[in-house]
Amino acid sequence: MTEASRVEVLVVGAGFSGLCALHRLRELGVRTLVVERADGVGGTWLVNRYPGARCDIESIEYSYSFSAEIEQEWEWTETMPAQPEIEAYLNFVADRLDLRRDIEFDTEIVSMTFDQDTAEWTLETAAGARYVAPFVVAATGILSVPLEPDIAGMDTFGGTSLFTGRWPRDGADLRGKRIGVIGTGSTGVQMIPVVAREADELVVFQRSPAYTLPWQVRPFAPGELAELKSRYGEIRAAQRAHPVGAARLSAFSVLLDMLVRPPLKSASAEERRRAVDEHGVMGALNWGDVFFDIEANRMAAELYGEAVARIVRDRQTAAALVPTHPFACKRPIIDQGYYETFNRDNVTLVDLRRGAIRSVTPSGIDTEQGHYGLDVIVYATGFDAMTGALSRIDVRGRDGVLLRDVWAAEGPVSYLGLQVAGFPNLFTVQGPGSPSAATNFVAALEQHVDWIVDCLTYMRAHGHRTIEALPDAQTQWIEHTTALVAPTVLVHPSCNSWYNGGNVPGKKRMYMGYTAGLPEYRRRCDEIAAAGYSGFTLG
Ligand code: NAP
Repeated sequence: MTEASRVEVLVVGAGFSGLCALHRLRELGVRTLVVERADGVGGTWLVNRYPGARCDIESIEYSYSFSAEIEQEWEWTETMPAQPEIEAYLNFVADRLDLRRDIEFDTEIVSMTFDQDTAEWTLETAAGARYVAPFVVAATGILSVPLEPDIAGMDTFGGTSLFTGRWPRDGADLRGKRIGVIGTGSTGVQMIPVVAREADELVVFQRSPAYTLPWQVRPFAPGELAELKSRYGEIRAAQRAHPVGAARLSAFSVLLDMLVRPPLKSASAEERRRAVDEHGVMGALNWGDVFFDIEANRMAAELYGEAVARIVRDRQTAAALVPTHPFACKRPIIDQGYYETFNRDNVTLVDLRRGAIRSVTPSGIDTEQGHYGLDVIVYATGFDAMTGALSRIDVRGRDGVLLRDVWAAEGPVSYLGLQVAGFPNLFTVQGPGSPSAATNFVAALEQHVDWIVDCLTYMRAHGHRTIEALPDAQTQWIEHTTALVAPTVLVHPSCNSWYNGGNVPGKKRMYMGYTAGLPEYRRRCDEIAAAGYSGFTLG
């Protein structure tokens, strides 16, 4: 057996969270190593490089706040950054902070085992290397495990199969081809307008239509970024105080604004019509009661259908694009010209609710509605979110218990989304039950990393070697996070979203976010820390 490398903290993953953790732990003087499966930094922003990939939060807010120098030195070119720019930004950060010397790339962790006697974790890689560390920070990402469907005949396809979650590094030439896209979540909705412009023919295979709001992304005007940078302190302060960790316009802020709008149910027919006349699909959904009242939500869906029918010329296609699941149960989507794309002559929508996919054949896709000949099939079919990455590693805590078994039996439980009872000294950045994907991911991960760094500082100062979430505290936390969403459509039985595990066959359903907002979450985390880490046992 090879000699194990020993460090104080082993960070798994070199995406946004892992890079931040490495930098902050180094500042603390902790010997830290990051291991990363890929050959570069960026995590999900390295591999989701499909055409049109873009963030739906503004670049100046979807970026690290811990370095004023980086804030000033990095030049964003657009209001909402596209994937290549985010990848370049993370590479810039890695170079600027000289992070690479403590990152081992092409290193895939397959097991982590906690030794109760030594209070240390041993991690093994796919290549058989071993690392030993008292603390592990799982910066493994919330949307890092693509969910690839199990459709009969997928491996027989004679053309090119592409997966948005592991897009070829050098891109894919889609020009002049017959392309099929399966999946119409955020990813599909983003890429479909872009692919339609390149393809000879585009066939969209839609199982569930999306609610999506039109959005304008634009390059910064001359001097605009410099002006924003000149008041970065103020921008960050506003972000910190904002429930979603992004105070400027974002997909989330649109939803928050809706909460304080008048109810749809008491609006007159004239008011409803005017909302759609003036604001299209946005006007259809922009009512305060749609989050809490399923009937109001259904009424909004009807209005939404009217708004879509005003954009999409073909009546059957327009009707097929109207969702039947409640609005807001899935993550909000913003798009650039999605519905207009279906007016193009080279685009066909296949509504799988009228006849499902039977199989992939050597020449295309066979459905109950007919066969579609294709050169390329793109799978934009989502992720095993939040718990997927750690469930694919053999994570063994106290008494050899496997984390994936705990989550399979109890659902994605966690205390604060930071630790799971029975898994001492394992910190999960953006674990289930934390604000994570219900907020600006970067703001949320910085708060997690700060908390972990403060916790390790405290442990050092008080001579503690272990910290472990208590089962009762975990149960109470889950009750709290669940109670927050109970009155909303987020947990309606007709809502199959990655937020509640409903998109993964067999996954135990539980809403995995924290919805009282980042400031309230931070307040609770800080209070727990100030009380000597209540709800945890320190040893
Ligand atoms: P997603 O929202 O889970 O959507 C997956 C799509 O694939 C759904 O339409 C799903 O249909 C469909 N699908 C899955 N299996 C299928 C099958 N066997 N046959 C036909 N259709 C199938 O995944 P995503 O679009 O990758 O987005 C996931 C998350 O990533 C987003 O919510 C967001 O948080 C993040 N993201 C963000 C951005 C952005 O910032 N703008 C862009 C991309 C992704 P059903 O709904 O019927 O299951």
